[in-house]
Amino acid sequence: MPDSEPRVVHGACPHDCPDTCALRVTVQGGRVVRVQGDPDHPPTHGALCNKVSRYPERTHSPDRVLHPRKRSGPKGSGRFARIGWDEALDTIAARLRAIAARDPQAVVPYSYAGTMGLVQGEGMALRFFHKLGASLLDRTICSSAGGEALAATYGGKIGMHLEHYAESRLIVIWGSNSITSNLHFWTFAQQAKRAGAKLWCIDPRRTETAEKCHRHLAPLPGTDGALALSLMHELVANRWLDDDYIERHVEGFAALRERALAWPPERAAAECGLQADDIRELARDYGTVQPAAIRLNYGMQRVAGGGNAARLIALLPCLTGAWRHRAGGLLLSASGWFKGVRGDAALYRPDLLAGRRPRTINMSTIGDDLLREASPAFGPRIEALVVYNSNPVAVAPQSARVVQGFAREDLFTVVLEHFMTDTADHADIVLPATTQPEHLDVHVSYGHTYAMWNEQAIAPLGEAKPNAQIFRELAARMGYTEPCFADDDEALARTALPGVDFDVLRRDGWVRLALPDAPFADGHFQTPTGKVPVDAPGLGVPDYVPPYEGERSALAARYPLAMISPPARNFLNSSFVNVASLREAEREPLLEMHPDDAAARGIADGALVEVFNERGRYHCRASVGARARRGVVNGLGVWWRKFGLRGTNVNELTSQRLTDIGRAPTFYDCRVEVRPA
Ligand code: SF4
Repeated sequence: MPDSEPRVVHGACPHDCPDTCALRVTVQGGRVVRVQGDPDHPPTHGALCNKVSRYPERTHSPDRVLHPRKRSGPKGSGRFARIGWDEALDTIAARLRAIAARDPQAVVPYSYAGTMGLVQGEGMALRFFHKLGASLLDRTICSSAGGEALAATYGGKIGMHLEHYAESRLIVIWGSNSITSNLHFWTFAQQAKRAGAKLWCIDPRRTETAEKCHRHLAPLPGTDGALALSLMHELVANRWLDDDYIERHVEGFAALRERALAWPPERAAAECGLQADDIRELARDYGTVQPAAIRLNYGMQRVAGGGNAARLIALLPCLTGAWRHRAGGLLLSASGWFKGVRGDAALYRPDLLAGRRPRTINMSTIGDDLLREASPAFGPRIEALVVYNSNPVAVAPQSARVVQGFAREDLFTVVLEHFMTDTADHADIVLPATTQPEHLDVHVSYGHTYAMWNEQAIAPLGEAKPNAQIFRELAARMGYTEPCFADDDEALARTALPGVDFDVLRRDGWVRLALPDAPFADGHFQTPTGKVPVDAPGLGVPDYVPPYEGERSALAARYPLAMISPPARNFLNSSFVNVASLREAEREPLLEMHPDDAAARGIADGALVEVFNERGRYHCRASVGARARRGVVNGLGVWWRKFGLRGTNVNELTSQRLTDIGRAPTFYDCRVEVRPA
């Protein structure tokens, strides 16, 4: 669609970020010339983050994969030859057909939130894999511990409206560097701050957000559950509870009360590495200021007890009655609010399994699972991986195992990608996928309550195709004749959101869900009883679960430092690492260290260091200063391995052990030692 006059179309940011911004995409001459935030969309209010403002640079990058490629060197060498689409699709179909004839479960799809779009995400892909009978994928890598904890508490991934934080009098930002990863929430928090609200930040790292809050608590990683119990201790001891709200809307509070009374601030302070008086001050603020809002984010749940900790924190506003106000309560995810307007079964077609019940592979243990032999417990050895919207070689934990698995010469790997990522380097066939302005999509959000429209702005570049089209063509090659494989992208979009007025969505770029302002002011949680269960079915009463690799673990003597690996400011998981201007802004992979920890090891600011534990070693540059608390180092991620120093990234060190709830990875539950390199 060449055009000489500039024109503006509605877009939606596809990235794994709670803000799901509305974009205004300016197109001229078949190119995206500018991407801006839509000023009319209330959550976006005209602002974009630094990363997505550079979207034209990303879409039109000379590094884009624009033709199918076939491996021409050893696995991981990055050597490929250009091939045509026919050869690529015929090769893939022949291999998948042969493997499926033995056992289709030996084929594993691997995908996550490289795009959050419902069409180009799983729209056609899951139909394809369901029809094939491939293994199912447990998509746990980011949020399932907190997500399942929230669902066990409120009945769904539901919470406050983003905009109402502007009216809060107290905001506790827990486990989130909002300025980097939830910018549009931060705007509302700033409005509240200007109107006199007090802001607390709870984060082991002194982030950009922590610096701008009135108070910052930096607990040791994985101890948030102890802190939450101690806050409850103070609420009980000082009678800062809303007895009426508890009586009417919380089931089984007595057991939680008893548990909380075992956690006076002195005990929690010792466990969390905090001062007891600071815990008391936070509890006093939380118990006496209304409306009080918590913005919880997923950083705190990437530890052994992440699920229990999220349950405990989610209970706090139920004890103080903060939910009575629209500016009180908690938001971890809003995605459950969209349940009523989505058409998941019609979109993903699990009925195509036709009674088969394939095994499930957890994406967070892909390193181990790629190396497993066939067994009655595991099922067939993994023979083929189809990767889309994900870069597991960079982002999955314990890289050494992941790389070893991807390097298997007998593994047939297909990667749909925009760029030659670490994962694409390990592919047998790479298929060029379109970026967001090159295709149509619809989105829901996990940070606000607007369904979003993304118009195709330009024709696909080179020979790139939308994911849905690639799976459509693969289905045809496999001989699948069900009419659902002929659905075009607009049909998929309509199927994805049957409860949304499609004409309004397309015209305006978004549709706000019709929801009450203060959804739990009078209870009505989405649990079977409508009340919040303290003793949740199958989970019991939440408790503090210490980290696997905490200060008292056997590993602590050999590896005295705890490490977390939050995202570098200019990256979003592993996306944008290859955008030159953003990578130049980050310069090099960094390990933030407290001056005392650095001095004890003879490490100066800017020195090259080796970070190591029993799983691996990683080289990066020390950044000595106030961002790290004593005893904790921050390995900023997620660099692509090939852009890292000596071809590694921080996931060399992280483990494949899983959380208490949600089968999620424990990236931030990781002990290390550091020495000059
Ligand atoms: S990454 Fe987040 S803040 Fe940036 S444009 Fe996308 S949705 Fe908005």
